[in-house]
Amino acid sequence: LTMCEKDIDKIDAKDIPFRFTNFVEVLIALEHSSHRKELSIVNTENEPATECAKQDLTLHTPILYRYRLSEGATKIVKTTPGRAIFNELLPEEYKQYDKAFKKKEIKNLVYEIFKKFGIDRTADLLDDIKDLGFHYATVSGLTISVKDVLFSDQRKEIIEKSEKRINEVEEYYRYGFLTPLERYREIIKIWDESTSDVLKATVKNMADHPYNPLQMMVSSGASGNVSQLKQLAGMRGLMAGPAGNIIEFPICANFREGLSVMEFFISTHGGRKAAVDTLLRTSNAGYLTPKLVDVAQSVVVTEYDCGTRKGFDATTLRDEEVEIEGLEKNIFGRVIAEPIYEPELGTPLPCPFIPGKVYERDTMLTGDDAKYLAKYEKCVPVKKEYEFNLTKNIWKDRLTYSYIELKEPVMASTGMLLFQAETPVNSHLLQECKNNGIQRIAVIEYPIVGNYSKQKAFSKDGKRTIAVEDEKIDPETARLLVAEGVTELRVRPTIIIRNVFTCESEDGVCAKCYGMDLSNHQIVNIGEAVGIVAAQSIGEPGTQLTMRTLHTGGIASTADITQGLPRAEELFEARIKLKKTPAVFSTVRGFVKDIKQEENGKTKVYVEDYEECIHEYEIPSTLKAKVNKAIPVREFSTACEEIQENEKGNCSVNPFLNEPNERLQGSAFPLEEGKTTYDSYSDRFRGLLNRIHTIIDRIIADTTRNENDEWGAKSATPEPAGNVIGSICERERSSAPEAKFKAAAKLFPGTPISTGAVRPRELMQELDVDTTFKYLLREIKRVYSEQGVDIHNKHFEIIIRQMLGKVEVVEAGDTDYLVGDLVSFQQVKKTNEAILKSNEKVNENRKRVLDKTVQKRILISREGEIKELAPEGSVVTEELLKELVKEGIKVVEIAEGDETKEYQINTKEPVKYRRKLLRITKASLEQIGWLNAASFQQTTQVLTENALKGSVDELKGLKENVIIGQLVPAGTGMDLYSSIDYDETYDNEQNSAPEP
Ligand SMILES: [Zn+2]
Repeated sequence: LTMCEKDIDKIDAKDIPFRFTNFVEVLIALEHSSHRKELSIVNTENEPATECAKQDLTLHTPILYRYRLSEGATKIVKTTPGRAIFNELLPEEYKQYDKAFKKKEIKNLVYEIFKKFGIDRTADLLDDIKDLGFHYATVSGLTISVKDVLFSDQRKEIIEKSEKRINEVEEYYRYGFLTPLERYREIIKIWDESTSDVLKATVKNMADHPYNPLQMMVSSGASGNVSQLKQLAGMRGLMAGPAGNIIEFPICANFREGLSVMEFFISTHGGRKAAVDTLLRTSNAGYLTPKLVDVAQSVVVTEYDCGTRKGFDATTLRDEEVEIEGLEKNIFGRVIAEPIYEPELGTPLPCPFIPGKVYERDTMLTGDDAKYLAKYEKCVPVKKEYEFNLTKNIWKDRLTYSYIELKEPVMASTGMLLFQAETPVNSHLLQECKNNGIQRIAVIEYPIVGNYSKQKAFSKDGKRTIAVEDEKIDPETARLLVAEGVTELRVRPTIIIRNVFTCESEDGVCAKCYGMDLSNHQIVNIGEAVGIVAAQSIGEPGTQLTMRTLHTGGIASTADITQGLPRAEELFEARIKLKKTPAVFSTVRGFVKDIKQEENGKTKVYVEDYEECIHEYEIPSTLKAKVNKAIPVREFSTACEEIQENEKGNCSVNPFLNEPNERLQGSAFPLEEGKTTYDSYSDRFRGLLNRIHTIIDRIIADTTRNENDEWGAKSATPEPAGNVIGSICERERSSAPEAKFKAAAKLFPGTPISTGAVRPRELMQELDVDTTFKYLLREIKRVYSEQGVDIHNKHFEIIIRQMLGKVEVVEAGDTDYLVGDLVSFQQVKKTNEAILKSNEKVNENRKRVLDKTVQKRILISREGEIKELAPEGSVVTEELLKELVKEGIKVVEIAEGDETKEYQINTKEPVKYRRKLLRITKASLEQIGWLNAASFQQTTQVLTENALKGSVDELKGLKENVIIGQLVPAGTGMDLYSSIDYDETYDNEQNSAPEP
């Protein structure tokens, strides 16, 4: 509807015969034109009416259109009748007459209108667009036939060219310059390139036919996509073989042309795999949803603010160099737990969109905020040195955000050492100095501490990476940076986002930790069943992903769901046995010192940490090291200079180059000007290149330098010595090849050192919960984003919170728990807090119980014998109290008037526990609500277990309440809402409900 038959920008306004002043005119003119009546079209610009009538006016004809702005003014635009009709639907400020609205544009438009006008106006707009769409889709009478599939002329040419390149590669292989693997990879690469080249040519060709139905469908985004076009009109490309490998023989034909027998046979493997996958995996993917729902169904927003100050530092999710999800998406719709400070000044960062607004605690980040903050960066000096004048109070505000430490030890006037150098300066230290009459102290401030690095920093000798991108700089790293001579660093401020995982709500989560409700872009309402939302958000694309292999017809591509879904399950189920071999990961922060290959095939990686301790990691022979040590990079800066052949020597010198841009002996490896040979070759060709360099090295070793210190010269023939097989002219090598290094990798706890998959359980054992949480989040997220499915992190976080929400009691302390009990983390935390709180009262209680009577006799057992410490009714004297305390009696019952009161007179031991990682099935069975657990799986077992325990179900989850037929405690069914509403019948219902 909104397309235009010509490039409207290029048409001069004078050449447009159709001019209209209002919308009705356009409609009338269209109507007349479609009936081909030779009626004069209403024209207000004094143009002869017959002029226009000669031409047909269609929806796509360029017209000049004068429309009324809201202030009463008018504006003339170049547009088409179709665009005029479409823009009629839109609010005034969103009218865009010069634009074709394709799928993406409509999506953005709807989103903009949703942000501005809210849900009602958006619904109206969508209804209108739908009506318009259906109407004009019907009217258009779009058809598709075999003839609509258009080929590009260049197709044949590209394929022929690729075949030539393949022959070259084969030749190199025969000469022994390539290993079989390199040859295979290069062939795959060539065909991949030519497939995409053919596709590009096809797309370009199609674009020349704007009224081609196929082109209209694909380019507007209405149906089909470019990869389907590739199958239909381009070339199908490489296929996966029965073993999952890529067959190096491509399908050059497409579906329009038809496949040869050989091509058909090759494509059957992928086709069959896709069909079988779809059949088998749909059920698997489908089962994921109920499992997720079961584990998360009880997570409901229960309160507005749990009051926590905790949160996670928002980071870009990345695996080594690959970015899985940007910072922007991660912080979108979150509430910040701490103000965002400007990296150098330390004042809260002002918001650029709303004057006066700063990013303070509890600000919810909108899409614009997220975009701004993710891009924000500043170059900040690493170190500042100055003196604090303690008599003035200017230091106080700097302390809150910046890391400052003492430069020199501080001595009291008596000569006693008060504080050592490198002690962090805090208000306590300053007060102490002040008390000792010290007026000035020399300090070092590291403004970068606490911020995130936006760039990499290397050590002086280039051997180490000191800071990686998106690393939080701590004092140690800052000191290291200073030591290595880094003076400035680009950083971004730390953004601490509140997070479902760190929420301290007892049941469910709080609104602030959850943040934005993604359905209306407001902070989430109390009562929202966010757990179910999360489970369904994650489960739904799971089924979709399985289907996707069907569409692509099993062509070989990196994105293959059979890799994705089992991996997601593996993570959610926290499998002990993984499909991949378990990887070795680092447990410390440090640098790779050395990698040694042992004789038995094992590799040893030595990691040096900040304290210069060496940690050794052994990688089994089945795995490879993934990290690198400092590798000298050899540079052949002028390698593309002329190197003449001697003709009489060995032919292995042949692949040398003559001039920049000339191909390597007319081969498939073009060399770019200004680049070293190293740069211009793909990584895959490093092997070949290395061999060439070895030959060069040999030649260099065999030749001598002339008096000008050159490797031979154009004028002078080099002295042949030994087996010289070529002469080299003006060839320089960078003076010290060892000068440059590919810096050794920096490792963090949890960074995989080898290939294979890290086991979350091992992470949990060796490291901590936070690392495990981040690992799970990153990995699950990766599975989905690799498939192009974009799910907000908070949904995953809810599920992972449920998986990590249980602890195993290790020592029960003075509680009723048993060793080995699985208890909720929040519950244990609460119990321990209560114990610590009551422990504080012990001394006070000891005083209180003095001179009072014991209500119940106090017995202790010693070596099997029971001894009475105090009989019933005895008075607590100081001596008795001392004995009681000594014997470790914790609670005494004291009569106070008619009542009996318990006093704690000894400190109690808190529970000791270990955080557990539970798979989702186990986690849902271990929930407090046993009714829910019984309804899910292993019904008999759950029921008997809970019957024996005498468990009580507090009916806090949704499912439990559904089972017994109560209102679900979510949405308006929550207590919070029912207490506001005093409806009579409602109240009765509430009262009749069994008290938990
Ligand atoms: Zn919270």
